[in-house]
Amino acid sequence: MRKPFIAGNWKMNTDAAGAAALASGLVKALAEVTTVDVAVCPPFVYLQTVAKALDGSAIQLGAQDVYFQNNGAFTGEISCAMLKDVCCKYVIVGHSERRHIIGESDELINKKAAAVIASGLHVILCVGELLEEREAGKTKTVVAEQVKKGLAGVTAEQMKSVTIAYEPVWAIGTGRNATPEQAQEVHAMIRGLLAELYGNAVAGQTRIQYGGSAKPANTAELMANPDVDGLLVGGASLKVEDFAAMVKTVA
Ligand code: PEP
Repeated sequence: MRKPFIAGNWKMNTDAAGAAALASGLVKALAEVTTVDVAVCPPFVYLQTVAKALDGSAIQLGAQDVYFQNNGAFTGEISCAMLKDVCCKYVIVGHSERRHIIGESDELINKKAAAVIASGLHVILCVGELLEEREAGKTKTVVAEQVKKGLAGVTAEQMKSVTIAYEPVWAIGTGRNATPEQAQEVHAMIRGLLAELYGNAVAGQTRIQYGGSAKPANTAELMANPDVDGLLVGGASLKVEDFAAMVKTVA
């Protein structure tokens, strides 16, 4: 069975005191939860502050992005080694805001995913279609391409270090989540694709999160789908009560 996995993506939010308070609040609120894997992904500059607040708890630390080189003249970038050094376990790669605002390509995202896996960290590879792509009936083609390109060169063995997050771009931060049926349809397609690429065992073990306006009120219905194994949560992860309620609903 796949253990549910809920991750909070804090994006470019909080400040040092707020990040510490949010992390400490979650540690307290989720102290009894053992049946769900939980991670939070604060901005880079607050990783160490949050690591301290999470110390001794089951909540894991994640980063929102990474660069694929180990070190050197890459001004402004952060490496996997640096993330490991500050106790990260997970790294989000290919978030739609990086694809569509910053302009990251599938090729760059693939290099980042490969670097994360090679470093011993666990990658959360985000994929998802734009509204116009959905309306043009291209959702499955677009998402399948992003999964294939993002995982190019990743072996079946390395898939243990991969979570896929299906995040329809039109649902992110809009308050309009995919319906449970829409989510399940794409998740099932992704799992089928993983079976083609890596076999049934890997497809059966890989967790596929849903992301896009997930909140306490829609957590149960989204998570009731057989191929929805967790959530990647943006806005609702910034409030202890909301994020904790979502985790507890799943637990
Ligand atoms: C996200 O940023 O990954 C996300 C899903 O955001 P929100 O939950 O705010 O839609």
